[in-house]
Amino acid sequence: MEREKNFRYLPEVNAPQPADPPPPVVGDSPCPCCGCLTIPNGGDAIAYICPVCLWEIDPFLTGEEEPSDQNHGLTLREARDNVRRCGAVLERLRPYARPPEAGEREAGPTLFP
Ligand SMILES: [Zn+2]
Repeated sequence: MEREKNFRYLPEVNAPQPADPPPPVVGDSPCPCCGCLTIPNGGDAIAYICPVCLWEIDPFLTGEEEPSDQNHGLTLREARDNVRRCGAVLERLRPYARPPEAGEREAGPTLFP
């Protein structure tokens, strides 16, 4: 009785999964760091993380030399240097990054050959 009163809003642990999985996120704008076409919603994607370089969209940045709180204090220029060197904004994040897919290179110049 007490448990039901305190936990009635929690979801069931084994709740059924939705029949249709959510649609995949499709990038339509270039990442400000690596240039790959990975950012959805016309670039209006606050806190979205580029799956290629792992830069997090920071709408408060005013320039390439301003440290980004959302990106470990890195500036955009430092993050680009790291991506060129190791493939991700920080070397320790490299295992979580992935190479750009074919359609993601169409935006123009990217940091990837
Ligand atoms: Zn990126």
